[in-house]
Formats: sequence, structure tokens, C-alpha cells
Amino acid sequence: MAINVTKSFFPPIEEYQDQLRRIWANEWLTNRGELVLELEEKLKTYLEVQHILVTNNGTVPIQIALKLLGKGGEIITTPFSYVATTSSIVWENCTPVFVDIHPEYLTIDETKIEAKITSKTTAILATHVFGNPCYIEVIEKIAKKYKLKVIYDAAHCFDVKYNRKSVFEYGDISTCSFHATKIFHTGEGGAVFTKDKDLQHQIFYSHNFGHDGQLAFYGLGINGKISELQAAMGLAVLPHMPRVIANRQKIVEIYDQAFSNIPLQLIKIRPHTDWNFSYYPIVLKNEAILDKVIGRLNEVQIYPRRYFYPSLDTLPYVDDCELPIASRISKSIICLPLYHDLEMSAVDKIIRIIKSVIC
Ligand SMILES: *Cc1c(COP(=O)(O)O)cnc(C)c1O
Repeated sequence: MAINVTKSFFPPIEEYQDQLRRIWANEWLTNRGELVLELEEKLKTYLEVQHILVTNNGTVPIQIALKLLGKGGEIITTPFSYVATTSSIVWENCTPVFVDIHPEYLTIDETKIEAKITSKTTAILATHVFGNPCYIEVIEKIAKKYKLKVIYDAAHCFDVKYNRKSVFEYGDISTCSFHATKIFHTGEGGAVFTKDKDLQHQIFYSHNFGHDGQLAFYGLGINGKISELQAAMGLAVLPHMPRVIANRQKIVEIYDQAFSNIPLQLIKIRPHTDWNFSYYPIVLKNEAILDKVIGRLNEVQIYPRRYFYPSLDTLPYVDDCELPIASRISKSIICLPLYHDLEMSAVDKIIRIIKSVIC
């Protein structure tokens, strides 16, 4: 059986059916039904956040955030993320301005942000990549000094805490993805977080066509609603999350141990972070060695992923620029298989193959 970089968690089917039965009893499929409201309440408690709005995916909330806070200006952003971070900026008629990344944390290099700020800059959109938080305090200071808004693409951050607080509580707006490949999922889904009451109101109507009741409109909107069917999956998955994350932690510890004294760069998690073990990236010496590692793993049906390649400043619809670290990292990084029921024998095999190539 092929081993992929990740595998969706499937709750016992009876538990999913129990949730579906509630939908059949209610005969109510979407527009914030009982299951969506319950999922929001349960997530609020689980994540210890003050506010959450659950959405249809993790991209629409980024677009809504940029619509409300980016206002067609220049957006300071990272080249090392999933394509949705950059494509959302361009989709919202804003201009991405890329800042290179930190070579060890892999998040935006906060020391290089100020040099890229102009009179047109409206916001910073940074990714807590692989669940590793950006240097939030410094970004906050810069944003305050230049009166910029801060949006965090926290798609990888389910259950991440920073300074003992949910990482979703930082920035003007944070977004998360509940896609099937993410650590907690609703098949397709996502969420948006803000502590600002005014923004909560704007985000809410923006995700529901701008509606103010049936007959009036607050403003422009899009359809960002999640359905009861997706919420059913979320409600069935959520109770299993502590075990899912604990299992991932065990595998991460085995990888860490195995790679501790060989010449291989691992991600450095920022201090004061309670991480979620969402990905296991390794940085190889160069692209040739990366190709060799992938080739050898593929021979035995093991499929790591090149997260994230290419560097987003090379997308065909943006101006490319000189970002040496992002360019080097994106060409030499892969994420190893990591999921709740990955077999220890597979982990051992992966470790053995990697060591045989690089040692
Ligand atoms: C998955 C992901 C998204 C998009 O989320 P969807 O739910 O698939 O729309 C955005 N940003 C990052 C960094 C992601 O990994």
C-alpha cells in the first residue's frame, strides 16, 4: 500500500452516521443550522478562542480578510506558503510584495519587512508555516508603527498555542483550513478568527452575500458558508483530535531522534510555542539530493511531498524578485509522511532510506 505524505482521519462511520441522522431529522442542510452552530461552540471551547466563524474552506476567509483590510494596496507577504496565500492577494486586486524567509524558522523574516513598506502598503499577510508561528511580537510592532493591518494565514495551526494562547488570537484576522489534508478536517472547510467586534460583523455579512436579513444588505459579500454535511464530519472528527495529535507527536519524536546527529536541517520551532506536529519538513543539501531521496522513497511506494515548491514569487502572475533563502529552501525541502496511524515499520523504513542517501 502506498504511503503518502498525509492521510485523512476517518472517524468510526457510526459516529458520522449519528451526526447525519440529526440532519435528516432537522431536514436542514445549510445556512448555519444546528450542527454548524454546535461545531462553532465546540471549537471555541477546544481551541480556547473568543470568536470563530466556520467557513466553506480556508481560502475564502483569506480573500474576505484581504477585501476588508487589504483594500487593493500592496500586501507584504511570504514566498514560502501554499499558493492560496499569494493567489488570494492577486484575486483581491492587491499586489503581493514578497519578503524573504528566516532560514531556520521558515516564516517571513521580520527584520526584512520594513525595507519593503511603501505609501501603498496596507497589510501584512504572513503564514505560520507548518504550524510554526511567525515572530508575532515584532510584526505587531511594525504594523503599529506604519498603521498596517496584520492577517495570518494559520491554515496549518489547528491547536497551536503561542505564549499559552491560541495562535488564532493574534493579528487583526487569522484564518484556518479544515481541508481533508489538514490535521483537523471537515472534508472541505475552514475558519476565521478576530477579536474586533466590528470586523466580526463585517466578516459575517461578507461570508453570507452581504445580507442584512432577507431584504436588505450591509455591503458586498460572497458565499463562504459551510454546510451541515461538512459540520457533521467536523463533529465526528473533533472528539478524536487529542489522540490524533498524540500519535503524530510520537512519530515526530522518532524522526527527531533518528535525525538528531546527522547533517540534516529540521524545522526550528519558535520558543514559547505549543506545536501541533502537523508536518515533518526536512531540508536537504540541494535539489539533486532531494531528487535522489524522493526517487529512493518512491521506489518503495513512499510519497513525501515538496511543500512548498515553487517559491511563490515565481508564479506566472506576479513579479519575481530576489529572495535567496526562499529560493534555496523551496528547492531543497520535503515533508515526510506523518499521520495518526502511520506504521512504525514505515517510519523506520523512511528513516533508513534517508540515512542511506545522505550519510
Ligand atoms: C491548505 C492551505 C490553504 C487553503 O485552504 P483550503 O481549505 O484548501 O482552501 C491556505 N493556506 C495554506 C498555507 C494552506 O496550507
